Amino acid sequence: MINTLAYAATSPTAAFTPFSFVRRDPTPSDVQIEILFCGVCHSDLHTARGEWGGTVFPVVPGHEIVGRVSAVGARAGKFKVGDLVGVGCMVDSCQHCASCAEGLEQYCEEGMVGTYNSPDRHTGGVTYGGYSNIIVVDEKFVLRVSEKLDPAAAAPLLCAGITTWSPLRHWRVGPGHRVGVVGLGGLGHMAIKLAHALGAHVVLFTTSPDKRDDALKLGADEVVISKDAEAMRARTNSLDFILNTVAAPHNLDAFLSLLKRDGVMTLVGAPATPHPSPAVFNLIMKRRSLAGSLIGGIAETQEMLDFCAEHGIVSEIEMIPIQKIDEAYERMLKSDVKYRFVIDMQSLHA
Ligand code: NAP
Ligand code: ZN
Repeated sequence: MINTLAYAATSPTAAFTPFSFVRRDPTPSDVQIEILFCGVCHSDLHTARGEWGGTVFPVVPGHEIVGRVSAVGARAGKFKVGDLVGVGCMVDSCQHCASCAEGLEQYCEEGMVGTYNSPDRHTGGVTYGGYSNIIVVDEKFVLRVSEKLDPAAAAPLLCAGITTWSPLRHWRVGPGHRVGVVGLGGLGHMAIKLAHALGAHVVLFTTSPDKRDDALKLGADEVVISKDAEAMRARTNSLDFILNTVAAPHNLDAFLSLLKRDGVMTLVGAPATPHPSPAVFNLIMKRRSLAGSLIGGIAETQEMLDFCAEHGIVSEIEMIPIQKIDEAYERMLKSDVKYRFVIDMQSLHA
């Protein structure tokens, strides 16, 4: 058993506090990882505050993990001690259903095991995530992270990166495409960088006028303030694809009407309460589609990490000690994150 230090929320309204627990000893196919950095996803907040229901307290969030391998199981041949690795949103799946066979473990028919707040197939308890100093994971769910990338800024690729990469690839976004990104937070800023690197023309829709210059620097070709009705109207029927990352309910029709005929808007933002729309006519008159997408499979996560290493793409981060996690959540709720908080796990020992 491995004594592990962490920060946990003990109720939907409690501040985070230090928490210790034990991780399993590595099985023959496991890798033990010393966690260096963990990104802070809005999903951590939704879960810690019980907004989606089903949170088991105490909860240790964190699914944007980068660290170094500190031990490997007898049959784990993928990694050696000292390797820089990542763990994202999943740590297990059934490995034999149709989705797993296609490398889409996030859609496992038996239910994937989330990195936190999921039933743990090994211990029978609940999984604890990356706001901790050590994690033990089956090597199939561990990713290689290039030494070329800054490890702290690479951490958000493990969720924000893959959650935007997977739909961009699935809907074949590339040169000649006009792509809208809605919301400039953790997911949104990765969506801009990745869609730009894939060769698309990127239009960022934001509620925060002060983010305009940043969006252009990140790779957006145009920035539209979504509260500006005239600017929105000017983009009617102009986009092939929209990736909507907004974490709160809002009027989807305002964005659906910007799609060309046969255009697709994919929702990755996951607010706790439903959106008030869409209107059916906004879909049928132009054969538009409204879709959703969940993180990404392990193979495509590795593909994304390798693409980012090749193109020098990482997240824009603000590093925090773990003791500032509650403050970071409050700032995230005010859309005041530029553009991902990352916890320096050394601070656990402070
Ligand atoms: P984030 O950093 O807080 O960014 C969300 C952005 O949405 C904000 O920065 C803001 O951008 C915009 N926004 C927030 N409230 C808004 C409102 N009331 N109206 C309009 N825009 C608003 O969050 P994130 O970490 O990127 O996560 C975004 C969402 O994706 C969360 O719901 C999260 O749980 C979900 N998520 C889903 C998956 C998946 O697999 N589908 C994976 C990870 C996360 P502007 O200031 O530019 O308007
Ligand atoms: Zn996430």
